[in-house]
Amino acid sequence: MKFFLPDSQDLVDPSFDFELERRSMTRQRQRDDLYAHEVFSTPAFDGLLVSKGIVDGFGVLGSRYTLSQRRRLQRDGAPRFFRLDNASYPLEIMGDCGAFTYVDEEEPPYSVDEVLAFYESCRFHYGVSLDHVILEFDPAADAPGAEEDVIPPAIRARQQLTLERAREFLRKHKAGGHCFKPLGVAQGWSPKSYAAAVKALQKMGYDYIALGGMVPLKTQEIRLCLEEIQAVRKPGTRLHLLGVTRPEHLQEFSRLGIASFDSTSPLRQAFKDARDNYYLDGHKYTAIRIPQIEGNPDLQKKIFAGQVSQERARQLERECLESMRLFDQGRRTVRQTLEVLLEYERLYDPDAKQKRNDHAAAYEQTLENAPWRRCACEVCGKLKHHVILFRGAERNRRRGFHNIWTLYRQMHERGLGEGSPFQEETGARARRAKARAHG
Ligand SMILES: [Zn+2]
Repeated sequence: MKFFLPDSQDLVDPSFDFELERRSMTRQRQRDDLYAHEVFSTPAFDGLLVSKGIVDGFGVLGSRYTLSQRRRLQRDGAPRFFRLDNASYPLEIMGDCGAFTYVDEEEPPYSVDEVLAFYESCRFHYGVSLDHVILEFDPAADAPGAEEDVIPPAIRARQQLTLERAREFLRKHKAGGHCFKPLGVAQGWSPKSYAAAVKALQKMGYDYIALGGMVPLKTQEIRLCLEEIQAVRKPGTRLHLLGVTRPEHLQEFSRLGIASFDSTSPLRQAFKDARDNYYLDGHKYTAIRIPQIEGNPDLQKKIFAGQVSQERARQLERECLESMRLFDQGRRTVRQTLEVLLEYERLYDPDAKQKRNDHAAAYEQTLENAPWRRCACEVCGKLKHHVILFRGAERNRRRGFHNIWTLYRQMHERGLGEGSPFQEETGARARRAKARAHG
């Protein structure tokens, strides 16, 4: 099974000093900042997923790319743009349209020709056919004798449109002599409708099929779809799960034909989730919040209104950072550290306890386990306790990188990974060291 990391230009600044919280004066974001695959010397994923919708920026979402980055991506191709040569292990790049960015449109805003041209100019290894996402899910539509109107015609039309575009995509892919591997997309609203789409795509000639629209589904619903698909799936057909990770169920998904998936959730959970921010050994830990006063609008408001003393806030922020540093050196106990952390929390979020939203128990578990001390990844080795601090993009994003690395490691430990990158890592390191020595 392969894990693709969707790109949204998440880079970290290697010059960032975590003690002083300063960057190098000479840092140039484009030249110096690092992608996740440049941070680790052992593999953390098999490839990147690049969406046309994210690169171009559709509608209100805007682009994560500057105009010059977009031009560079199409001129130099994705392997060079993402500096894949710096990765410790060969990475592949999959292109898709990013159907979620235009979900509200009646029709996709691109033509098949535009999509093919985008994939070709970016020199992707895989290209996903143009699709229109379906967010409705209603297994009742599969019941014998279910009325046609259980699923509105507009939804059925989306599936039809996705299949038509897939047919056109494959025909033009062949005619144009494109080198990337084409994937057809199956969209559906129920297990049977997904299976029907897979069947149709196989008939067109696809043997690698992406399953779209499953992000909001519960694991049980995904399982039902995969089982239904299993009944029509030809032995040589591989499936890609778009945007979904359920780490606990990868084994089962693999048995049901999932050959690859992509997901940003290990990265995003590091700083978006209320509790599950740091993965290790199958556990998810809560990161320790020490917000920067400047970066916390609520706290700023209270300071301006005179409800909170700015001096007191600053003092507690500093004490929390210092406490965590001493804790990691074994010079503060869990209890002592917790006390300061919670005092700061009472200041920046006074209602937390009332809302049963305070972090006392979660922090205690994090500190008792101090999981970063056991992690073998380079982020944790270098950052030490800073990796568990929920504070600013440089720390938060690196914690996300750690989560990606952990998930990938877990896949391989369970025998789910493809190839055996971990046996080759010594060789790759030696090759890189040699390359560096030669300038
Ligand atoms: Zn780590």
